[in-house]
Amino acid sequence: MTANNAQATRTLLNGAEIPVVGLGVWQVPDGRECERAVSSALESGYRLIDTAQAYRNESSVGRAIRSSGIPREEIFLTTKFYPGSRDPLVEVERSLERLGTGYVDLYLIHWPKGGPTWAWSGMERASEAGLARGIGISNFSAAELQELLKVSQIPPTVNQIQFSPFEYRRSLVEACADAGVVAQAYSPLGTGRHLGDPVVERIASATGRTPAQVLIRWAIQKGLSVIPKSTHSERIVENFDVFDFELDEDSVSALDSLDTTDQTPDALARTQKWWS
Ligand code: NDP
Repeated sequence: MTANNAQATRTLLNGAEIPVVGLGVWQVPDGRECERAVSSALESGYRLIDTAQAYRNESSVGRAIRSSGIPREEIFLTTKFYPGSRDPLVEVERSLERLGTGYVDLYLIHWPKGGPTWAWSGMERASEAGLARGIGISNFSAAELQELLKVSQIPPTVNQIQFSPFEYRRSLVEACADAGVVAQAYSPLGTGRHLGDPVVERIASATGRTPAQVLIRWAIQKGLSVIPKSTHSERIVENFDVFDFELDEDSVSALDSLDTTDQTPDALARTQKWWS
């Protein structure tokens, strides 16, 4: 990948190309606000949209994609299985109805509620039925990924994890790479909390960029796909404008040193897990 390539991708184990930067829509209410955010992202050049059954905004995402006029096959669409439900195949069919499309590019187990393996055969059935071109996981630790790999017929392509300089999880990122699983960074801006950090602000002003661009660029340079969320069109544009600069070594190591996870192989601290 070169720095100056807005359509840069990472190659998944199933051969698909996942864009390096996408729009996340967690906490964006279903309706006009969500449609506007997705439309604005697609107009700005984004080709990856990340939603979930739990976000309850798949209908708006689908409407915005259809009204964009962009051919469906040029857009990489992710949704996630809500693991409070029982059957990933039944639930992806419902997602596709809401999204108004025949397939998703990526279908993730949203979190390993009830253990890392029980839902996987249903995910594989969704893949075999052609309803999910790729299947993967989210919030899985290195140990949970290993357990899954022991039983999977179709390997996971992506592990979507909380990742930023403050939540570096270096051992988990390495475990994903070792398994050929692309790590994808969620909450790359710390859901907004990291934007005012003095180190991030200093690097932003020294590079002539914004704090959001610095955090997104750091995650790209660590090899991840990144899905910042915004509902403001000027920020959506700003967050995608990260392909014409590189953070130098000093900036990267200053950001690395903000890690509070002690390079953990865990996906979340025990106290952060909302499902156990
Ligand atoms: P982010 O880390 O992307 O931060 C989003 C926040 O930062 C919002 O408050 C947004 O405000 C603000 N913001 C965004 N861009 C800028 C900017 N350029 N300047 C100033 N403020 C900005 O948050 P999320 O936690 O939402 O993570 C991103 C995505 O990751 C989610 O939307 C979801 O798709 C995914 N995710 C997945 C999870 C999982 O369990 N798999 C868990 C959490 C997130 P505003 O919108 O008002 O512009």
